[in-house]
Amino acid sequence: MTAKKGSSIVYWLGKNLYLNITNKCPNNCYFCLRNFKNGVGGFNLKLQREPAFKEVLKELQKVINKKNWNEIVFCGFGEPLARLDCVVEITRWVRKYYGKNVTMRVDTNGQGFLLNKDRDVIWELKKAGVDKISVSLNAHDAETYNQVCRPAFENAFENVLKFVKKAKEVLDVEVTVVRIPEVNIQRLEEIAKEMGVKFRVREYIQPFW
Ligand code: SF4
Repeated sequence: MTAKKGSSIVYWLGKNLYLNITNKCPNNCYFCLRNFKNGVGGFNLKLQREPAFKEVLKELQKVINKKNWNEIVFCGFGEPLARLDCVVEITRWVRKYYGKNVTMRVDTNGQGFLLNKDRDVIWELKKAGVDKISVSLNAHDAETYNQVCRPAFENAFENVLKFVKKAKEVLDVEVTVVRIPEVNIQRLEEIAKEMGVKFRVREYIQPFW
């Protein structure tokens, strides 16, 4: 599929609808797709600027009734929880005005607490109507995390674990890992098990050079 004109705030793959609400992220993972691609599925996810809530809503309204979506997912070329207000407002809108039963998911690097100090992030998400959180952990210890995810925050790894444990109390949570050589996948699976959350391995899409 060829890239659609301009950048996309809303895109879809199969029966899931995705919201690309930001290109900001406090990590700089060496394997991040945005380092070597402009988007996915023919959609360009490199935003010209950060869209206002109203723009996100407008784009969502254009397509929300096109299919019976299985999930509406906050996931794009940035960290959705860097825009917690937008995630909360859009979720509230979907719950209030979209008549169908749809799963609302946030794909995150799990740094929601670091990005939103003084806010009750998990409770705000739950209250708005988020069902699921998928946390991209990508390391079995802090040293590996710093090496592969190159976070701007100190103690990011410990914070991500804290986020997962807290989120698990009220939401459906999974931890994911990209299959890269630095990560001990078995160890990470054990960590997920100890925390009582689901675990999923994602294949690394190699850059083509
Ligand atoms: S956390 Fe996600 S969006 Fe951020 S740099 Fe890593 S892979 Fe990219």
